[in-house]
Parts: sequence; structure tokens; C-alpha cells
Amino acid sequence: MRIAIIGAGSAGYVCAIRCASLGATVTLFEENKIGGTCLNVGCIPTKALIAGIHAKHIATDSGILGLSASDVKLDMEILQAHKNKVVETNVRGIGYLLKKRKVVVFDGHAEIISHNTISIEDDRLDYDKIIIATGSKPAKIPGIGVDGKFIMNSDHALSMTEIPPTMLIIGGGVIGLEFAHIFSSLGSKVTIVEMMDRLLPWDDDLCSRAATKFASNNRVDVILNAKITKLFRDGNDVEAHISKGGETIITRFAKALVATGRTPNLDRKSLMRIGVEHDKKNGIKVDSYMQTSVPNVYAIGDCTGGYMLAHVASAQAKVVAGHATGVNSHPMRYDNIPRITFIDPEISACGLTSAQLEERGIDVSWYKFMYMASGRAKAQGIKEGQLSIAVDIDGKIRSAIIIGEGSGEMISFFSQAITMETPIEQLEQVIIAHPTLAEMAVEIIEVATGHPIHT
Ligand code: FAD
Repeated sequence: MRIAIIGAGSAGYVCAIRCASLGATVTLFEENKIGGTCLNVGCIPTKALIAGIHAKHIATDSGILGLSASDVKLDMEILQAHKNKVVETNVRGIGYLLKKRKVVVFDGHAEIISHNTISIEDDRLDYDKIIIATGSKPAKIPGIGVDGKFIMNSDHALSMTEIPPTMLIIGGGVIGLEFAHIFSSLGSKVTIVEMMDRLLPWDDDLCSRAATKFASNNRVDVILNAKITKLFRDGNDVEAHISKGGETIITRFAKALVATGRTPNLDRKSLMRIGVEHDKKNGIKVDSYMQTSVPNVYAIGDCTGGYMLAHVASAQAKVVAGHATGVNSHPMRYDNIPRITFIDPEISACGLTSAQLEERGIDVSWYKFMYMASGRAKAQGIKEGQLSIAVDIDGKIRSAIIIGEGSGEMISFFSQAITMETPIEQLEQVIIAHPTLAEMAVEIIEVATGHPIHT
């Protein structure tokens, strides 16, 4: 079986490795860098920067543990070098894995000519199956140009070594908040402008409230229900016209970051040529096995819209690898997706949101457990945090939200519980090492079964 994959991001490279290990002959086309957005300008580099910020916070905020550190400085040149090294090592590592699996990697722009032909430069190559994994690009605001120096997108902001005194972030979603965390911690006065009526508008209200609290704790100004109508460089500043409630606020910032989400990266000409159904905003239409409207052509990752997350892209990649090679077949599920906003404290959620539960008519009861009741949290000097879970009438967890230190790691417990559809009576039997923050997962389940110990 000859399989072609266009794009070597979280979707494409995972699919290539899995298809090859299932016995297919795989060709992977990449016009930029192996690893795509996540490894080069997304998940990994942002977390490398956030690691530096986190270390700074620990150094300055651990008075309760007897630590007095004054004048803690973060050297941006060193942190940037760390970030670049992490990116390079990861990208090289993926290259090595692809080579080991005998995946042929073509460096260049691939174009789909027919449902089984791809052209690259002057070559035309035939395959049994084609998998489109062309990712996404930063969304643009009509009429607003990004120059990469004063008005930036996330790719540019990631490489900054100088910290601007003031920064406008347009968009109060995950990416906007993570950059607000980075820049406010480094000393910028950050303002977030969000069009909707709350931060993290696509997630649960509890997550939005935690994001608002993060903003006020970090002197981040938030302007909700507001729109940028004009944004341009003026001398050494950026002038922003912010429209809110019929009025226009005109204000200036040293830099502006456009973080209004991402749009699917589509070669619409090729898609139309072979008849792949798609739409500009929501991406390529696929079924639950990631098949497009054209037989033998699949699409995975951000180019299919929906949750634009690396772990969703990789999960879709594995579904396709099994289906396209005919080795196994299980559909893609979306009721168990973990979502993390890496700010301080982390905001983590998994499963369906309250709005999705309501839409689907799923009755649930919500339960709560506070970090304050955990011995380990107290020992670590953690002052606040909470877990919430929604359990349906069959005793299965449908949603989990954790706001607090370590929540991004802890949410995995609930991701597994939702995926396996394990009833809470069984989950209650899980033994978790003491003393850990992870113990709180079983503590909250004991609240739900009516046998709480520490609350
Ligand atoms: P991409 O990674 O975008 O890869 C697509 C690849 O296709 C690209 O390398 C592109 O060059 C290539 N390509 C496109 N067209 C062609 C062509 N015609 N020929 C050859 N090659 C082509 N997700 C998380 O889960 N956790 C996070 O913490 C997280 N943080 C993020 C932070 C930021 C700042 C950003 C921007 C994103 C973040 N994401 C995060 C999202 C995550 O990066 C994406 O969901 C993920 O990279 C999608 O993978 P993909 O393979 O679909 O697309």
C-alpha cells in the first residue's frame, strides 16, 4: 500500500510513523519544517518559555516556604536559546524516527492533481491513498496588517527578546492568554481585547472565571465585548481603535499581538479540482474515520477545523493509519478531549462542556473538591485550586475541570475515565500514591459516590 501524506505536523508525522509501522510504504511531503506548528512555533516553544516564567514565579512566590529571593531576573536571551534548542532537538528527533521507519520525506510544496496523484516540482507521483494534513495559519483581522515587528502574530511573538512596556493582545482565547501570561510575567503591561463577553469563550464558564481571576492577579486589563476597528504603526508605537458599546477608545501600545485563532490551511484549487468538500472557515469535511468526500483521500489535523489541538491531530492520525491500511478501524471520538490553558494556575478541562451537555440533553450532577483539602497541596504552599466533575445518571464522568497547579497532568486521569467509560464505583477503587496532588482525582470521585474522606 503506497500512502502519501501532505504536511509533517502533529497530524502528518504521527500518521506517517504509524502507517509505516503498520506495513505501508509512506511518502511525507513538507514544504517548511518537520514537526509543523506544534513543534516549531506552537505547543513546545510556548511551553519552553512558560517553563522559564514558572521558575521565576517559584523563586519569587515561595515566601511561605521560607524562600526569600529578591531581584530575580530572567535573561530572555538564555530563555530564547533554551527554547530554540528544545525545538531543534525535537525536530531532529522526529526526522530520525521517520528515517528509522523508512518514511520518504520530500522537501517542498505538494499539490494534489487527482485522487491518487501528487505533483512536487516537476514530478508526478501515484499513490493508493492520499492524506491531507496541511494544518492551519494564524487568522487575520480584515483590514489589519501584520508586520512582524510592531503588529505580530504568535510566530513573531515567540522570538521576542525585548520586553515591550505595553502590549495589546487581540483575542482572549488560549493562545492570547498564554502570551498574556508570558509577557505580563516579564514586566509588560498587557491589555486583552476580546470580542465575546468572556475570556476562553468556547469553554466552560468556570474556566472563563479562572481566566478572569488570572488576569486581575497579574494586572492584565481585559476589555470584553470589544472589537479592534483600526490598528496601525505610528512612529515607535501601535495605535489601536477599540470599539465597545458604541464608543471608540483610541489608545497606544508598544506592540500588538493578533491572537484571534487559526484558520485551516487549504489548497482550495486542488481540493476543488478533485472534488473534496470543504469550506474556507471550517476546513475539510470528513466522516468519523477522517475520510473526505473523495474515496481514498483522508484529511486530519487543523485543516479539518474543530478542535485545533496537537493531541487531537495525532489521535486523528492514528485513526486514519488504522483505517487506510485496513489493519484496524475505530472512529474518532470528541467527547473526551482534554484542553489546557497553560497560565498560572493552569486551567484544564476534559470531556463535554456544560453547554454541550445541555445541547445533547445529558443530565449530570456536578461535584467539587478543593485543593485546600489536600495534604500535599498544603505542604507545597498551594493556596487555592479546585476540581469539578460532571457525572451522568449511569455513574459515568462526562466532564472534568481542574483549576490549579498541576492540573494539566491531573486531567489525564479523567480523560482516561471518560474514554474508557468507567463507572465511578470502579474508579473509586483506584489507589493513588500518597501524598500527591493526583490523589484528589479519587477524592472527588468519593464525593460523587457519597463516601468522601477529606471533605
Ligand atoms: P501543522 O502543525 O500546522 O502542520 C501542517 C504542515 O503542513 C506544516 O508544517 C506545513 O508547512 C505543511 N504543509 C502545508 N501545505 C503543504 C503543502 N502543500 N505541501 C507540503 N507541506 C505542506 N496545541 C496543543 O494541543 N497544545 C498546546 O499547548 C498548543 N499550543 C499552541 C500554541 C501556539 C502559539 C499555537 C499557534 C498553536 C498551539 N497548539 C497547541 C495547536 C497545535 O500547534 C496544532 O493544533 C497542531 O500543530 C496541528 O497539527 P497539524 O499537523 O494539523 O498542522
